[in-house]
Amino acid sequence: MLKGLLILFILPLIFWISYCLLPTLWHKRLKSHSLSIGQAPIRPLLLTFDDGPDQRYTAELLDLLRKEQVKALFFILLDKATARPELVDRILAEGHQLGLHGLDHKSMWLMHPAEVKDRFDRACRLCRRQGWRPIYYRPPHGQVNLFTIAAAKKAGFIPMFWTAMAQDWQRQASAFSIYEKLKKRCKPGTVICLHDSGQGSGGTIHGPAKTIEALRRFLPEAKEQGYTFITPQQKNFVITEGS
Ligand SMILES: [Zn+2]
Repeated sequence: MLKGLLILFILPLIFWISYCLLPTLWHKRLKSHSLSIGQAPIRPLLLTFDDGPDQRYTAELLDLLRKEQVKALFFILLDKATARPELVDRILAEGHQLGLHGLDHKSMWLMHPAEVKDRFDRACRLCRRQGWRPIYYRPPHGQVNLFTIAAAKKAGFIPMFWTAMAQDWQRQASAFSIYEKLKKRCKPGTVICLHDSGQGSGGTIHGPAKTIEALRRFLPEAKEQGYTFITPQQKNFVITEGS
């Protein structure tokens, strides 16, 4: 009886905790990436967008960023990016940076190490073919297993999580709730995680409309308060591990 219990429940639980849960908590909570500040300018913020590009909303977001003269980092999904490569080319042409979010939005949690490696290899090949060079990597759902981060680094990526979210993917989110969360949670050095697509990634299809509306109010206000939106490779700023 005890042996049966051990095999059925306790061993899989121990495996799940050590293979999935602890690596994810370690990277998400304890090693969250924050900005280390060089000299001027002061009060830096890094704006990042996951899950795109989106055929409906990425262009609208890029219009807003251009109007506000704000640069951002886009963590793209390659299934969407290769379907709409002109959106990625526009992201790059307008001075934003690229990160990799994955081939698709599949969680890495229970993935076999060989599949993890194969996915990074395929992602690198696809990006090379398109002429894209994403430097940073953020896992779908922020979930990693024991091998994910090592495989990402071996493939040449710098892992980056976030320090503030606005829950903009949630069904009940509104433009106002997103704006309020951004206002409350941003401080100098914050890495903000938002979403420019809700399709096929657990969000809602028209969710990004609310994110964009929130940003229409938040971006000018933040600049007025002395914040500077930077990209990680801008002079005087580096991304460091640990907060
Ligand atoms: Zn995502």
